[in-house]
Amino acid sequence: MKTYDLIIIGAGRASNLAVTAGKNGKKVAIIEKSTLGGTCPNRGCVPSKLLIGYAHVARAIKESKRHFINATINKIDLEKIFEETNNYISKIDPRYASRFNENVEIFKGTASFVSNHIVKVNNQELTAPRIVIATGTKPIKPPHEKAWTSDDIFPLNKKIPSSITIVGSGFIACELANFFDAVGIKTKLLVRSEKVLGNEDIDISNIFKEEFSKTLDISFKTTIKDIQHDGKQFNLTLNNNESTITHSSEALLYAIGRESNSDSLNLQNTSIQTNERGYIKRDEFFETTAKGVYVVGDASGEHMLQHAAAYEVNHLSKILLNGYDKPLTFKYMPHAVFTEPEVASVGITEQKAKEKNIKYVSTTTNWLASAKAISTRLKYPVTKIIVDPTNNEILGCHMIGPESSTMMHQVLAIIHIDNNINNLKEMLYIHPALSEALLPAAVSVVKEIENYNNK
Ligand SMILES: Cc1cc2nc3c(=O)[nH]c(=O)nc-3n(C[C@H](O)[C@H](O)[C@H](O)COP(=O)(O)OP(=O)(O)OC[C@H]3O[C@@H](n4cnc5c(N)ncnc54)[C@H](O)[C@@H]3O)c2cc1C
Repeated sequence: MKTYDLIIIGAGRASNLAVTAGKNGKKVAIIEKSTLGGTCPNRGCVPSKLLIGYAHVARAIKESKRHFINATINKIDLEKIFEETNNYISKIDPRYASRFNENVEIFKGTASFVSNHIVKVNNQELTAPRIVIATGTKPIKPPHEKAWTSDDIFPLNKKIPSSITIVGSGFIACELANFFDAVGIKTKLLVRSEKVLGNEDIDISNIFKEEFSKTLDISFKTTIKDIQHDGKQFNLTLNNNESTITHSSEALLYAIGRESNSDSLNLQNTSIQTNERGYIKRDEFFETTAKGVYVVGDASGEHMLQHAAAYEVNHLSKILLNGYDKPLTFKYMPHAVFTEPEVASVGITEQKAKEKNIKYVSTTTNWLASAKAISTRLKYPVTKIIVDPTNNEILGCHMIGPESSTMMHQVLAIIHIDNNINNLKEMLYIHPALSEALLPAAVSVVKEIENYNNK
């Protein structure tokens, strides 16, 4: 049996821990069943956002009439778009491998536990006093063998379809639908409920639905009753608002959620416990129910975001390598949806505040005070701010509009340094930058706090 200082299972964000531990002279084994780098750079955040870049340009041309410009697209070279994206992905594994020094040994294979501190990979047993599980998630399997998940398009090794049906209403379904539609692939989004991005604040989700439906063919209250594939295309029978309709497309992609990878780990051989959805339980130091075994990132089922996983790995690295003894509790967890319209969010939504009986005031303010925002000729962009009127703390902020994800960082900086809405109101803004749209949002919610306190 080979002995290490540290075994890491899953070379996604936890690759960073292997790099640092290796540099610190620790003997590390890192085990990966697929490509090094994990979901984010290979089949997640990065390639999906590379596609958004193409979608963005195509949409700008298609919508140029809004600016009194009559432009049309002559040709979209889809082969080139996918070739570039595939090329990017093909370089990830070697790039990650090159980051590890001689102290880090890479095992390509599926790891499973023999006992709390013995891991098996490719019929070899490895042991270490510290083991980190960072096995992430996988897409929920579609009900038809020829249907795709996001893993099938990153990289796309199949024929580029001329039409696609996408099932789902979360951020992955919406981002992919936005791309395929923008670059001229006939796209239909099938949504079971009446909402898209249903976890966002209700006002933002409603605006999103209205704007997104203007460009995209979306069927709400729709489920698939039957799937047939005739060798060329899918022929779907859909239940739509209690009537039955048929729909055909070359490709069918399911983006209906992700599930834990812990089923591959043989956890029954250990004292590591999971929750009812198979996600691994941990304490605030990332330690599982087995001493010396840790879990970070999506494998814990908590945040399911790249920046959360990276932050956790960085913190765990300090605990394991520098003897750091502070737990990690996130003060805030932002996210963005890179569609058109773009959405960004941090903190509590209004519906959650109501549900939890939290004292709050909130205002929703359009961006039209900023000349840069006016120049987009879009009317829908807004910022919604939710504040605790007793101490001026920002509880939530939700935006919809171009570059929302960038704009949100200003709010994140305030939450991070000194969470008081007055900081957003009193800071100096560059005129007439897009961010200036946040000033009236801050002013109006501060007024609302005064009204609340004067009641
Ligand atoms: C299409 C898509 C778009 C996304 N976009 C965003 C975004 O814009 N922003 C954002 O913050 N997040 C985004 N995410 C989520 C983000 O990719 C994940 O939160 C992040 O990758 C989690 O990192 P991780 O290291 O925990 O897990 P992963 O990156 O999933 O790494 C886990 C690794 O473990 C390996 N593994 C699993 N089981 C075993 C085993 N038994 N033995 C050996 N290896 C194993 C897997 O092969 C994988 O490489 C997106 C995800 C998808 C799918």
